[in-house]
Amino acid sequence: MTDTDTNTALEASRCLEYGDDCAGDVEFHSVGASLKAWPRCEFHAEQRWERYENSIERYADSSVAPSWFDPGDAGESWDDD
Ligand SMILES: [Zn+2]
Repeated sequence: MTDTDTNTALEASRCLEYGDDCAGDVEFHSVGASLKAWPRCEFHAEQRWERYENSIERYADSSVAPSWFDPGDAGESWDDD
């Protein structure tokens, strides 16, 4: 194996948020409805999911519709009170 081959293999299996707190196997993960998958270790994949879920909860408590909210969907309005 040449040095170039080794570097390529490392690059492909490295966590997107590579750092000292990386833990577990690096695999490709996608979040929510996203079709894109990125390599992340187990630790950072879990953190990414928490950020995703927190952002949904924040939107649910807000009277400001998120950019993806379509009032034409199901005939609902975002702030119904
Ligand atoms: Zn990581």
